[in-house]
Amino acid sequence: MASTYDKLRRILSLEQEQGYRDRAVVGGLSRFLTYWEREAREESEGIGRSPAVAEVVGMLSGYADLSLAARRETLDRLLDLLVEEGSRRGRGPESGRARPSEDSVAGAGDGGQMVPHRKASQVETARSGRQETRSGAPGQLTLDSPITGLKGVGQVMAARLERLGLRKIRDLLHHFPRRYNDFSDLRTINRLAPGEEVTIVGIIQSARTGRTQSGKVITRAVVTDGTSSIEVQWFNQRYLANRLKLGDEVAISGKVGEYLGRLVFNSPEWEPLRRELLHTARLVPVYPLTEGIKGRWMRRLSRATLDYWAPLIMDPLPPSMLKSTGLMQLGTALEQIHFPASRVSLQQARQRLCFDEFFLVQLGLLRRRHAWRSQQGRALAVPWREIDGFVSRLPFQLTQAQQRAINDILGDLEKRVPMSRLLQGDVGSGKTVVAVAAMLATVRNGLQTAVMAPTSILADQHYRTISRMLEGCPETHCTLLTGRLSDAEKRHLRGDIFRGRAQIVVGTHALIQASVDFARLGLVVVDEQHRFGVAQRAALRGKGTTFAPHLLAMSATPIPRTLALTMYGDMDISVLDEMPPNRQRVVTAVRDRRSRERIYSFIESQVAQGRQAFIICPLVEESDRVEAKAAVAEHRRLQEEIFPRLRLGLLHGRMDAEEKERSMTSFRRGEYDILVSTPVVEVGIDVPNATVMLIEGADRFGLAQLHQFRGRVGRGQHKSYCILLFDDPSEESLKRMQIIAETDDGFALAEKDLQLRGPGDFFGMRQHGLPRLRVAKLSDTAILERARSEALRVFQEDPDLARPEHRAMAMSVRRFWRSGDVPS
Ligand code: ADP
Ligand code: MG
Repeated sequence: MASTYDKLRRILSLEQEQGYRDRAVVGGLSRFLTYWEREAREESEGIGRSPAVAEVVGMLSGYADLSLAARRETLDRLLDLLVEEGSRRGRGPESGRARPSEDSVAGAGDGGQMVPHRKASQVETARSGRQETRSGAPGQLTLDSPITGLKGVGQVMAARLERLGLRKIRDLLHHFPRRYNDFSDLRTINRLAPGEEVTIVGIIQSARTGRTQSGKVITRAVVTDGTSSIEVQWFNQRYLANRLKLGDEVAISGKVGEYLGRLVFNSPEWEPLRRELLHTARLVPVYPLTEGIKGRWMRRLSRATLDYWAPLIMDPLPPSMLKSTGLMQLGTALEQIHFPASRVSLQQARQRLCFDEFFLVQLGLLRRRHAWRSQQGRALAVPWREIDGFVSRLPFQLTQAQQRAINDILGDLEKRVPMSRLLQGDVGSGKTVVAVAAMLATVRNGLQTAVMAPTSILADQHYRTISRMLEGCPETHCTLLTGRLSDAEKRHLRGDIFRGRAQIVVGTHALIQASVDFARLGLVVVDEQHRFGVAQRAALRGKGTTFAPHLLAMSATPIPRTLALTMYGDMDISVLDEMPPNRQRVVTAVRDRRSRERIYSFIESQVAQGRQAFIICPLVEESDRVEAKAAVAEHRRLQEEIFPRLRLGLLHGRMDAEEKERSMTSFRRGEYDILVSTPVVEVGIDVPNATVMLIEGADRFGLAQLHQFRGRVGRGQHKSYCILLFDDPSEESLKRMQIIAETDDGFALAEKDLQLRGPGDFFGMRQHGLPRLRVAKLSDTAILERARSEALRVFQEDPDLARPEHRAMAMSVRRFWRSGDVPS
């Protein structure tokens, strides 16, 4: 069993990686050395190894006091010795197996004592065999074997682990701690103070079991460390006293409590000092658990799995890249994220794992992009003169940003490579006109355009806007395909589309579904791209028969660069970062419920001036149905009690498409003064006469979403107002409300939103067929940029990842992108 030497070697390598700062283990190498020496002596008895334990201890003693240069010299020499020693014994230096766990308490409900693994009779390491396999009788285990291959994990525990999404051995390595208890603060007992989270090491002086007055089993022990002693108590652990042997040295970690003026530990973590510490005296991992799986059990399983398997995992990054990026090896990173030797190594482990996630995402996106672009597209002849005419007839002058975007897009259309471009711009930045220029070019080439909106209300609006913009262009028609058409009309229109007579067809996503066939589809415009899922993207790819259409996606949801690169790394991006000059600032006010009456009279006064208002009901998380019900009630209350003389419309998610449309249309036509709506209200709707946006329960929305709501007003020439109303704000939400009141810039808000809320599922990354990021945060911009440039380099050199040094990488990409959306 080489575990003590392997452990030493690992720690020394880490110390080396970290620049000899004596930080590789909590408390420094000297403290580690005391434990190590004892363990190593026990282990090496009778084996006669070199370098001898004494030699190691001699070399490392006083390490903390050495100069940096002296530390380096000592450590490097010792490491050389250890490596030599490893190879003399004829196996890879990291092939040590975990020792069977010695304590078999907590939670090992099935299978009794947890022995980490089946015994391997023959060991292949990643380095020699380049296989993530441990072979041996019985059966052959790989990292992709079911978790039941691990000893101590029977059917019962496997079923519980499955609830945590853990099926394969590999999954365990990626089941990262939620957080860490910092028990690395080692104290002597005479220096303890109540309320602190600390670790002590001492000898058990006494241990006995009794009962409390209420009948609970209580185990009391007294631990002493020479400076003082302290009482430790646990409840309801009947057999614990037997395991607390007098004279044993133990580590105890937990919060120091006080009882009748004396210090005491209440139910702390504890473990005997004779082996590597898992539960105490370190940064202790805290795992996501489920019923029937206890923290201690999970930690032991994780430790055992790591000991055996982490050294075998294939690193997707070739050594040259590890070297140039300075990243930690994958095996080490996995080990360190579970059982960090120090804060520094935890940080390095995170960086490595974060890099991998971004890197694999980027590689996948690059391949997706490559697949899209290697389709045959059509190069259009752009009618520049006519485009100029179109632009000059507009009732306004294009912003610079709009001109740039139009140039980007028309430039793409001239190429044979199908375009895949995202047009990003805040609400009201004028994306539609940019898209219309592209439609015009497409029509002039005798090709068709499909314009897809997420809902029929928006489709209707696009249809009207596009038609209006194209009024001056001869023989350019736009049609709307909606559910409102009669069956005969639909059939007729489908015929026109099929024969190529319909030039620009606006509709919902149903447009690209099975029943609609375009004769010559040249351009697809997708509005509100973030609602556009993988399935639809795939359908689109299937639509191009011989030629793939050009794709223009638009998004009003401003997203920061990290997120854009992560979600849309397969697309080119044009950004409208400039608002049309005539825009007025929407006055944003933050109010609490005491102002409600005054707000209502303000709305009334606006209506008296001929304006209109939106009232957004609070977000209801339970369900659509509950939310709709709440909206119906609120509508009735407002109509009957507050605004009896005004006309109030209603919009909610349980209405069918036709009802919604009727409400919207009436509101747009001014037949309602106020529209009461649930948050599902279509964000893209355009009602220039509306000047008030009142948002109830505003503190429950994200900043980006509030900004979208605000974008519904201020679209005409009248001064407009957004009122954020909340009932019971926390400090944090008040801060968010202030941010939105002070900031107009959607991108800045989205950045803030990310910082405040964390990336979470910012918006359905999963829905886009993107892999889940477990470690990477979207605020890790620097790592993302690095990962992206590395991915680009690899992709340019070896797009199919066919080179031997990229084989592990190719496998990782496939595994990471399980959705199958990435061509392999
Ligand atoms: P969005 O980017 O939110 O889709 P729209 O395309 O709907 O924005 O444009 C919002 C409004 O601004 C429309 O009424 C449009 O006619 C107008 N608009 C677009 N570009 C300009 C411009 N350069 N100057 C003035 N108004 C513009
Ligand atoms: Mg729009």
